[in-house]
Amino acid sequence: MATSISTSSQTHLLPQTNNPFLKKPITTFTPTISLRNPPTFKPISIKCAATTQAHPQPQTQPQSSDRVFNFAAGPATLPENVLRKAQSELYNWRGSGMSVMEMSHRGKEFLSIIQKAESDLRTLLDISSEYSVLFLQGGATTQFAAVPLNICNNDDAVDYIVTGSWSDKAFKEAQKYCKPNVIWSGKSEKYTKVPSFDDLKQNPEARFLHICANETIHGVEFKNYPTPNNKSGILVADMSSNFCSKPVDVSKFGLIYAGAQKNVGPSGVTVVIVRNDLIGNAQSMTPVMLDYKIHAENNSLYNTPPCYGIYMCGLVFEDLLEQGGLVEVEKKNKKKAEILYNAIDESNGFFRCPVEKSVRSLMNVPFTLEKSELEGEFIKEAGKENMVQLKGHRSVGGMRASIYNAMPLAGVEKLVAFMKDFQAKHA
Ligand code: PMP
Repeated sequence: MATSISTSSQTHLLPQTNNPFLKKPITTFTPTISLRNPPTFKPISIKCAATTQAHPQPQTQPQSSDRVFNFAAGPATLPENVLRKAQSELYNWRGSGMSVMEMSHRGKEFLSIIQKAESDLRTLLDISSEYSVLFLQGGATTQFAAVPLNICNNDDAVDYIVTGSWSDKAFKEAQKYCKPNVIWSGKSEKYTKVPSFDDLKQNPEARFLHICANETIHGVEFKNYPTPNNKSGILVADMSSNFCSKPVDVSKFGLIYAGAQKNVGPSGVTVVIVRNDLIGNAQSMTPVMLDYKIHAENNSLYNTPPCYGIYMCGLVFEDLLEQGGLVEVEKKNKKKAEILYNAIDESNGFFRCPVEKSVRSLMNVPFTLEKSELEGEFIKEAGKENMVQLKGHRSVGGMRASIYNAMPLAGVEKLVAFMKDFQAKHA
């Protein structure tokens, strides 16, 4: 098959033209290539000083037999076809003669990569021009500080809902930069619930209301979102572990942030989606690397960004679009989660998920064994069947199966069959 890459070189503004922070037009390089039907590349031979080797041919057939089902909470499993595409482009990205890892972040090739990643993400989540999309570093943990530094003053009151370890960490970090208050905590009930929004005592003076949309460790997920009843009407969400797992009405939020390494790419990239009017008022002590204005003005290219990670996120976004977008992705996620929760609930107490049914996460499924002494054996036996990373977080114990977008249905079916067998042997 002939390599089917078409390229065009053109001068136009990035999608962030919508973005009032963008200063200058950029020349882009736009190859078109399909992720689900990647082209094969002409084999080339490489001469090294010591040996002469044929470059391995990209494999086009899905081949899972040499891969495990990886239920890790993050870094987590990535779509097989995305990995294969990256593999086929690793050595020479689309005829550029370079790997993405070797490209200048200011060159036209990488600009086309970051531009497409942003525009595909905008399409996926239907993000309007009122929002900037930033590809940053430092993980979601850095955003625990960056959010208050950028959108409030250090004496501003702020409301936090604490539904698990991650929102608790966010709250604790914010104490350094503003006056946060926990208006609801699920700690006394071991983080198994989301509060009823009617009962929330929001501070009308609060600058923003912060939630963690999906608690990765405890498996608690908001199914809808509270309306911020504060003077600025700003809702902020940490969506690290359910980002792009379902459609989200971005216009309900002032700011969304997410580490990439669960659903959309490798670790090292943090996506921030922030309403433009919230940019530009960072506290004076804000480090330049945490100032959204700096990043928005520079299209996330103020300094060297995590180029390869952004490229991988771009491939994942492309793949999600080719699957039919987030409506379709959510259907698959619901089906996988339903199968797993049903297996737990129908085990007559052999397995147990402590989370209230209405807020169980579609992404992270924690469960315990009635006979807790069997947990080690469960994990060991699962490992022998190529199902790995099922141990619960060290802070809560038990088991946790993370079933992000890229976990195939077959992985969940295999886990459920294994659980039934295990129960039959040990009940
Ligand atoms: N928030 C949530 C919901 C998370 O799951 C994690 C990581 N597991 C974090 C924040 C922290 O992310 P990072 O390690 O990227 O700083």
